This record gives sequence, C-alpha cells and structure tokens, in this order.
Amino acid sequence: MKSIYLDNAATTKPISTILEVIKPYIQEQWHNPSSLYDEGVKVKQKIESIRKELSDLINAKSSEIIFTSGASESNNMAIRGWVDEQLTHEYGMVNIITTPIEHKSILEAVKNPNLGACVRYCDVDENGLVDCKILKKLLEFREGEPILVTLASANNEIGSLQNIGEIADLVHKYGGTLHIDATQSLPYIPVDVDKMGIDMLSASAHKFGGLKGCGFLYKKNNVNIKPLIYGSQEGSYRGGTENVIGIVAMGEALKFINYDRYDDLCRKRDYLIKLLEFKFGCKLNGHPTYRLPNNANVTFPQNITGEGLLYTLDISDIKISTGSACNSKEITPSHVLKAIGLTDDEAMRSVRFTLSDEITYEDIDEVINEIDKTIKLIEMLGDD
Ligand code: PMP
Repeated sequence: MKSIYLDNAATTKPISTILEVIKPYIQEQWHNPSSLYDEGVKVKQKIESIRKELSDLINAKSSEIIFTSGASESNNMAIRGWVDEQLTHEYGMVNIITTPIEHKSILEAVKNPNLGACVRYCDVDENGLVDCKILKKLLEFREGEPILVTLASANNEIGSLQNIGEIADLVHKYGGTLHIDATQSLPYIPVDVDKMGIDMLSASAHKFGGLKGCGFLYKKNNVNIKPLIYGSQEGSYRGGTENVIGIVAMGEALKFINYDRYDDLCRKRDYLIKLLEFKFGCKLNGHPTYRLPNNANVTFPQNITGEGLLYTLDISDIKISTGSACNSKEITPSHVLKAIGLTDDEAMRSVRFTLSDEITYEDIDEVINEIDKTIKLIEMLGDD
C-alpha cells in the first residue's frame, strides 16, 4: 500500500534534486567559505547568491539575512538578542508581548527567568487569531518603553493566519519592534517584509523541502540585536562556520516555492475537512478561512483519542499528528487547543492533517476509508 504523508507541518520531504545539488559541496567544494584562496571564495560566492535569493523572496536586503540552524535558533536569537541589546542601554522596563499559542521555541525562550524582560501574553480568540484590542491595550500600557512583539504568522497546530499588516501597524504606532515566526507560512503565503512592516522574521528550510538544521533570521538593518553565538561569521551576529550543505539545499528548495499552488491546496484541504465533518461529525479547529492552505485540525466526537487514531493509521502507512510534532511525545493536551478553549478531553480527541502538493483526492478518500474502519472497529469493541 502507498504511504500517505499528512504531516508536512512537522517536516517536508526534501526536494528530489537536493542530493545532486549538494554533492559537489561534499566532494569538491568542501572548503571553508571564510578561506581566502579561490576554493573558499567560490563557496562564499555560492552562499552569498542564496542569501540574495532569500532576501529577494521576502523583499529584504542581502545584508539582512542571517543563516542559522533553523527557526528555533532564529526565534531565540530574535528574542534573547533583542533583549540583550536593550539591556546594554536601557535601565527601565524591557517588554515582550507574545501569545499563548506560540511554538515552544518562543514560549520557552520568554519563560527563561534570566531573560531580563517583562513578558505579557496577548489572548487569542476561539479561532486562534490575535485580539487586536487586547494587543493595543498591552502596547498602550508600555508606550515609550522598548517593546518586542513576537508571534507566528501561521500557527503550526491549527494553521490560523494572523493579520500581520494590522498587527504591524499597531506595534509600530506604539514604537514597538515586530518579530514574526514565519516557519509555517513561508512556503504558502508571500511575505514582503518592507510593505508588511516586519522587523525580524524566522524560517526553517526543512518546512519547504530543504534539510533539517538550517534556516535563517531576517533582521532589518536598523534593528540591533546581540548574538547568541559570538564569532566572526554572519556579520558577527552568528558565529560558526556556515552549514554550507544546508544552505545550498535551502537555495535549491527555494526554487520550488510556488505561491500559485495555494488555490489547489485549499480545495484539497476543504475536501478533506468536509468529509471529516460530514462522515464523522468532526469539528474544525482554527479559523475556517484564514488558515494555511494545507492544514486541517479537527476534533473527533467519537470515543477515540488522537493518539489511538495516529497509531492505527500508521499501521496503514498513513502519517498524521496529534498536537504538533515538537511535543508529540507528550501525552498532555496541546497548549494551543487549550488556549482556543478546548477542554482536555476535546484536545486529546484532536488530530492534525497537513497536506502537500503530492496528495491526491484519491489519497484523501483512502484516509477517510481507513478512519471509517478504525471508528467501526472501536465501536464494535466498545459493544462487547
Ligand atoms: N516555529 C514554528 C511555528 C514551527 O512550526 C517550528 C517547527 N515545528 C519551529 C518554530 C522550529 O523549527 P525548527 O525545529 O526547524 O527549529
């Protein structure tokens, strides 16, 4: 039976041409990009060309892209680096505003008792959208002091898309700095950091067909941060010899980002959601329309747990997720689902399907068939 991979929010299959593209950088051009002889210069030129392509994608400048080991590092760098910079010249309160539905790399970074900042959480509504009235109040309260607002453009569990333009206007009106975790949205939603008023932005290559352990932080030139890792590379913002293979692979994956596929993916996503709702009485989590084109997160009404369904579908080689992959080892209910108002029990009955272009309507029918079989089996066992 064909494997059906519906966990693209956890990671995506690397683009098939990557092996071929990275091979010369293992066998021939394996030199250090900081070396001054010809080979080193050529490797440096390659990574600089990718820096330029990345900056073009988001309408930034090359000098505003810092290569990192992925979005977790980029998020930590944006938060810790910004706070540390403020603390060098600010003797008053340094403020962070975030939301309760962020990825752990943001939530844990702001929870650090040694951060040196006052952290406030802006509530989200039942669809996971930032409540701009609350955000305004939080900003007003600290107006005149340094404020960093850090949040994801698209939630990794429920796929809800924030109105970044509106949030950016508000943040800048009160003199704040805006950091966006675009890890999930980058492959699907075009970003123009200039037009949208984004000061910093995080992304990870493996969420758009690149390799794990590579990503970048966009940092507007006039935003100052301190490094997490001191050294001479990446404009001294991020020490360490560059992950050349990861960067070359990210450059290749970048070529396959195609925002035109949005409508097609939305149609497949909606087909899946409709079937889940009509056949099993599932309830959609996250915003019904402002959502990632590949995300369907639902709660099952039946007496089945998300975990149970995940393992049963795995036997049929169908891969899904409960909560997010980053905390899928925990059996605790998802903090995101709880923050949008689900009970522990509802959260435990929820699953996330994240599609890719490769998924066909037949695959979706197959998934529905397998879920149907599982539910019937559970009901049968329950009758005994
Ligand atoms: N932010 C979001 C929204 C994510 O979905 C992820 C990955 N699950 C990350 C940050 C962290 O990315 P990485 O694990 O590649 O560092």
